[in-house]
Amino acid sequence: MKPLIIANWKMNPQTLAEAKQLFDSIRKGLENIKNSEVIICPPFLYISNLKSNILNLKLGGQDCLWEKSGAFTGAISPLMLKNIGCQYVILGHSERRIYFGETNEITNKKIKAALFADLKVIFCIGETETEKKKGETQKVLENQLKEGLNGILEREMENVVIAYEPVWAIGTGNPCNPEETKKTALFIRKIISELYPSIISDNLKIIYGGSVTGENVAEYSFKSGVGGFLVGGASLKPDEFVKIVKIVSQS
Ligand code: PEP
Repeated sequence: MKPLIIANWKMNPQTLAEAKQLFDSIRKGLENIKNSEVIICPPFLYISNLKSNILNLKLGGQDCLWEKSGAFTGAISPLMLKNIGCQYVILGHSERRIYFGETNEITNKKIKAALFADLKVIFCIGETETEKKKGETQKVLENQLKEGLNGILEREMENVVIAYEPVWAIGTGNPCNPEETKKTALFIRKIISELYPSIISDNLKIIYGGSVTGENVAEYSFKSGVGGFLVGGASLKPDEFVKIVKIVSQS
């Protein structure tokens, strides 16, 4: 399985011109890298202006609603993402949970709707610093997985990627160490094996996100055993992001 690298641009950059420039720089840098799949998740309103002409570079949304259409001011539906050219959507990101009050139940509704619209879902889970300090990491992850995937069918799990993103590691410059990430990825796989047949838990792609950079990604690729990365801050620096993809593709 090719490693998956997701760029989450969040609410950046501030102009379409900058977004196009960033996208083009990344696209050029990736032209000769075949052994990985890269998904750029820009703010919604830039998506239709960013066109990839290379197979291993695709587009994704940073969120979507659970409804197909209708009176939902400000929202974007999964089908809109699909129709504008996205193949993926990030759901359950901790920033959605923290700033927009999204619960496991809301995330679950969004996952179902996105899968129904034939999008692949990057389902983010992760504990906060307080939860980690209280020794609750496994309990939190288990709840997020069980409630977030409630009712998701076996055949739909093919289109789900789990992103382990400890909240305390996001944007802090303080990544979870590769050994701990490896243990947590094993735990996630174990929970999935309790919910689904082994063909699904064995093949599930689990990626890591939280302060991944061009400097630390090599250590991760070799030691953590994850199937890719979700990259926030470093995805806004084209040279660094391309460096990350190159390193991951070689490992
Ligand atoms: C993220 O927002 O999902 C993320 C991983 O951000 P950063 O790489 O900046 O920690």
